[in-house]
Order: sequence, then C-alpha cells, then structure tokens
Amino acid sequence: MAGKYQSLRGFRDLLPGETEHWQRFEARAQRLLHAYGFREIRVPHLEATELFTRSVGEATDIVGKEMFTFEAGRDSVTLRPEMTAQVCRAYIQHGMDRLGLNRLSYIGPAFRKERPQKGRLRQFHQIGVELFGEASPEADAEVIALGMAIVTAAGVAGTKLLINSIGDSDTRPAFRDALLEALRPVAEQLCGDCQSRLERNPLRVLDCKKKKCQELSADAPAILDFLSEDARTHFDGVLANLEELGIEAVVEPRLVRGLDYYVRTTFEIRAEGLGSQDTVLGGGRYDGLVRALGGAQITGMGWAAGLERLFIAAGLDDQPVAPELDLYVVTLGPKARRMALPLVQALRAEGVSVSWDSSGHGLGGQMKRAGRSGARFAVLIGDDELSRGQATIKDLAGGGQSEGPIDALGLARWTRDQREREG
Ligand code: ATP
Ligand code: MG
Repeated sequence: MAGKYQSLRGFRDLLPGETEHWQRFEARAQRLLHAYGFREIRVPHLEATELFTRSVGEATDIVGKEMFTFEAGRDSVTLRPEMTAQVCRAYIQHGMDRLGLNRLSYIGPAFRKERPQKGRLRQFHQIGVELFGEASPEADAEVIALGMAIVTAAGVAGTKLLINSIGDSDTRPAFRDALLEALRPVAEQLCGDCQSRLERNPLRVLDCKKKKCQELSADAPAILDFLSEDARTHFDGVLANLEELGIEAVVEPRLVRGLDYYVRTTFEIRAEGLGSQDTVLGGGRYDGLVRALGGAQITGMGWAAGLERLFIAAGLDDQPVAPELDLYVVTLGPKARRMALPLVQALRAEGVSVSWDSSGHGLGGQMKRAGRSGARFAVLIGDDELSRGQATIKDLAGGGQSEGPIDALGLARWTRDQREREG
C-alpha cells in the first residue's frame, strides 16, 4: 500500500478505465429512462434521520444498524441509505402531483455501514425509479419491464426475475401470527439477528441470508395464502401483464424485501453466478409511504439497482477500458513547444481529441507518454518539421511513419480521413 492515507474501508475510488464503463452505462440508462417517460431528480446526500426511520422502518437492518448518522448542531442527520424516502419527501415538498411529475428517476451514491465484501460496499451507487399515483397491475409490469431493460443495458446476461405479493396492511397481522406460531418452536435455533427480529417483525426472518434460518423457515406458511381478494386480483394481474410482455417471472413466496414500506408487489432481479450478493435490483409497491410521510394518499411503485453489482454481474469490474485518443503531440525544442498549445487547442476546437506533454521531457519520455495515452498517432514537431512545414506522424498502433500537415486545420482533416478509413 502506497501513501500515508487510504480510502476508508468500504469506500472506494473509481479510476479511469472503470469510469468509462460507468459513463457508458449511464448514457444508455438515461436513454432508456427517457424512452419510458421518466425524468431525473437529484436529491441531497444528507437528510434528517427521522425521514429514514419513519419510512424504511425501525426494525429493519438498514435503520437498526447500517446508517451513518451524526449530529449537526441540534439535528440528527443521516447519509442516505437509499433514495425512495427522499424522492417521496421531495414529491410532497414540491407538490409534484400538481405539476404532473409522477415518473421520477435518480442515480447516485447511497451509504450503509455494512461488512464490506465483493458487491457490498459502504458507499455504493444506485439507479432507481419511482412511479407515483398509478396503482394498476399494468403500472407494476411496466416498472418491472424497465428494471429488466436497465439490467440488460448494463450488459448482464443471465437474469432471473423473482416476484411475490406481500398483500396489504390487512394481510400482514394474520400472516404475522401464523408465521410466529410456526417459528416460535424453533426460535432458539435461529441466528441472533432473527431471534430479535422474530417478535418485532417476523417477516424479516424470511429475508435472512443465513442458510440455517432459511431451512428453519422453509415450511413456514406462505404469505400468498393470506392475500385479500383485492391483493390477489392485483397480483394475478401483474403476472398476466408480465406474461403478455414476454417477461418470465418466478413466484417466490419468501421474497419480503428489507424495507418496511412495501405492500402488494415485491420483486428482485438476480444475476447468475454472483454468489450471495446476487441481487442486482430490488423493488416493489409502497402505496402508503407518501401518506405516512405527510402527503396525500398517493400510491407508489419503484425499484433500485446497485451499479457495482451490475458491473460485477456483467463481468466489467475487472475489464478496464483502454484509453482512446486521436493524437499525441510530441515537441522537440523550445520553438515547437511554444506553438504546441495553440495547435492542440485549435485541433480540439475541430473535434480532434489530443493530448501532449508540456513539461519538456526528451523525445523518449514523450513517446512513452504518447504510448500510454492511447493515442492512435503521435505527431512529432521539431525544428526540422517547422522548417519543412510538415509534421512527422508515427502510427502508434500499426507502426511506421509518414509525413502530415503541421497546421491545425490540415491536421484535423487528416485525422478525420484516418478515422473514416478505419471505420
Ligand atoms: P441485500 O439483501 O443484498 O443487502 P438490500 O435488500 O439491502 O440488498 P436494497 O435496499 O433493495 O438492497 O437496494 C437495492 C439494490 O442496491 C440491491 O439489490 C443491491 O444491488 C444494491 N445494494 C444494496 N446494498 C448494497 C451495498 N452495501 N453495496 C452494494 N450494493 C448494494
Ligand atoms: Mg442490505
């Protein structure tokens, strides 16, 4: 490890080579979101702690142990662990229902104090959508279809869509009782977390990633058997719509998700071969959340996907993007160096990507930098070239050397010709 200071555990730098993957994905994702009529919202990274405790839920892992919370003056503030609560807060605050803004998307960092491992960071990044005020099964299917399209746009191939309904608020009490009855006899064999979850929120036990807990709850009652007629009809409608769209969905009765605000539809997209961090996207319906946060009774449906996990699933995390540049200008002598900056500026104005080394290294040093820059051609300019009015051009990919124009317009045209020739 070099350097006295290191980034914090679970926080990492994105270096060139990786950032290009992010930029490419973001560009594709924004096109998709636009195609679905979603518009981007950017919310702050810091919020009042209460927003998250109220919405995500006191008994959840996120609120219970994963939040970065601190005092700012007299206020308790928290680095956002997720964005849905914030988007709802903003939706209410800005009266977006009156503005007709009901399809919102976001992208940016989220923070959770978890045990860092592959695909699990303390600062990670989410892209997500929220659809307000549309409670139909079609809305669920459309939002899920967009989620599938985003995962595909990231380059993830083998995916599986898991879906469930956790019913309405009136489903929960009866199911809760039945679940408690089934789990109490084996309570002592559950993990520590689940033992404390059991009485506060037994649904969480179904969500536990520990194998033992999953085995112990394998025969527990299924929430689908407790659905109200309305919730059942809605769920059947969602499944029918997905089928209509040609989207294969697997009903997974254990899928309850880690946030308290979900009702009815919950779903996850998993990527094959990712181990226990295989969930790349998760979401569901949260019809009571806007109201719970002080707004009107407006329904909501959305999802969030983890960018780091998407890139791992797409096999891009260890495939750095090679640099690309049209030209690297190499100068020999003070006269050439003086004319280089105006030259590269004029080239850039003509749409040519170009870099150079202003620090006066020798030919060898500059050629080495040219090689690493990813430039297709090195343009050598020295006294000779200046007196001849022709630059020496080295082909950095193919090898070989030729003469080329030394003026910006000529060199830009030459570069465009090369690009065309190479397609
Ligand atoms: P998990 O069960 O893996 O902890 P979660 O249910 O807590 O995930 P959500 O709150 O639904 O996750 O967040 C949506 C997505 O954000 C996840 O599917 C995942 O891709 C990503 N994500 C969540 N937590 C992390 C993290 N600590 N590091 C990286 N990505 C994460
Ligand atoms: Mg989690």
